[in-house]
Amino acid sequence: MTANHLTFHVAIVGGGLVGKSAALALAQAGQRVALIAQPAAPRPADVPFDARIYALSASSQALLERLRVWQALDHDRLSPVYDMRVYGDAEAELHFSAFQATVPQLAWIVESSLIEHALDAALRFSPQVTWFDARAQGLDVKPDVAHVALTSGQVLEADLVVGADGAHSWVRAQTEAQVKRRDYRQTGVVANFKAARPHGETAYQWFKDGEILALLPLPDGHVSLVWSAETEHARELLALEPAQLAAAVERTTHGRLGELECVGPAHGFPLALQTVDRLIAPRVALIGDAAHLIHPLAGQGMNLGLRDVATLADVIARKEPFRDLGDPVLLRRYERARREDIGALMLATDGLQRLFSVPGTLARSVRNFGMSLVGAQPLVKRWLVTAALG
Ligand SMILES: Cc1cc2nc3c(=O)[nH]c(=O)nc-3n(C[C@H](O)[C@H](O)[C@H](O)COP(=O)(O)OP(=O)(O)OC[C@H]3O[C@@H](n4cnc5c(N)ncnc54)[C@H](O)[C@@H]3O)c2cc1C
Repeated sequence: MTANHLTFHVAIVGGGLVGKSAALALAQAGQRVALIAQPAAPRPADVPFDARIYALSASSQALLERLRVWQALDHDRLSPVYDMRVYGDAEAELHFSAFQATVPQLAWIVESSLIEHALDAALRFSPQVTWFDARAQGLDVKPDVAHVALTSGQVLEADLVVGADGAHSWVRAQTEAQVKRRDYRQTGVVANFKAARPHGETAYQWFKDGEILALLPLPDGHVSLVWSAETEHARELLALEPAQLAAAVERTTHGRLGELECVGPAHGFPLALQTVDRLIAPRVALIGDAAHLIHPLAGQGMNLGLRDVATLADVIARKEPFRDLGDPVLLRRYERARREDIGALMLATDGLQRLFSVPGTLARSVRNFGMSLVGAQPLVKRWLVTAALG
């Protein structure tokens, strides 16, 4: 092993939360890991909360606990979700409650940068992980090994390359995986507000004119907005002054949380559905948004990616000693284990998005009737909560 030619069991390309979690999980499974990623940007100093917020399910919490990252988070900055209220575009309303579902909480609302900094700290203390602050720019897969060339000039040798490099995955583009992408022609507008009325640890969601607006609880009476708005409308929303944006949210949510005060800049993320026909290729596994991209209406993209991590780590931890990490049998085990979960969430989120996009009075009556039916069926509601908890 020379300074420019280094050997690892696995090379992980991409340092979003999914890639960094994968590095820790695979190190914990006893592997020598190369992580090709940028360190986290400094936490935003002049705003109370990061604009990127995730609703994390029990399965994500369990993984982060196993990685000893959850314990390192500042718990005063997390908000549990005990209730969820969903309003249809007519009279229908659905209420999910942690109490009725007999679970401690439905989700946790966590800032992205909070987790990322905790992951970075844990990675720096992990002797099994070597961090390369560079980008991957060359992949050469041989029958017995893969080589990853970095922008720093270094070349890494690994049994397995994990593509955790997001929706526009460079790793995936080096394989023969076929990608189908459908633009929702919507942008996710995110911003944080201080609310005049208490949110009661409740997540609210309104479906209106094909758009979906969610307000998620944050500590100290704050809420986080995710407004999946038609592209043109999102452009208008993003151009508004903070007070005007707050007023627009108040109007659309019928003043449910009283007066809102914007406490940081708004950001927009284009929304698309993306399916990938193979999660694996010779000596390559795809995880996170590199493997699947879904609408954020159910707040499940990150949860899905972290479940990819848990499954990949599990497959590797249980491997027979004679197999190396790039063994096609292991890769197929990973792919098989993930197909159902990914397929089900794609179907559910895409189906809901389409259902509420159909214009007209009849369509509106049908979907609101459907929501009322679900609301009247405790068993169906319980099943939905269990599915969302992962
Ligand atoms: C508005 C909105 C709200 C959402 N809310 C939720 C929620 O509440 N709950 C939830 O579970 N999910 C949510 N999601 C989904 C979630 O944001 C994504 O699923 C998640 O961020 C994907 O993480 P990732 O690590 O796979 O990819 P990314 O975060 O995209 O990270 C990929 C990383 O790879 C790096 N990279 C790319 N190419 C290379 C290369 N060649 N070499 C090295 N590095 C490279 C990139 O710089 C980046 O750092 C939401 C999404 C949106 C748009």
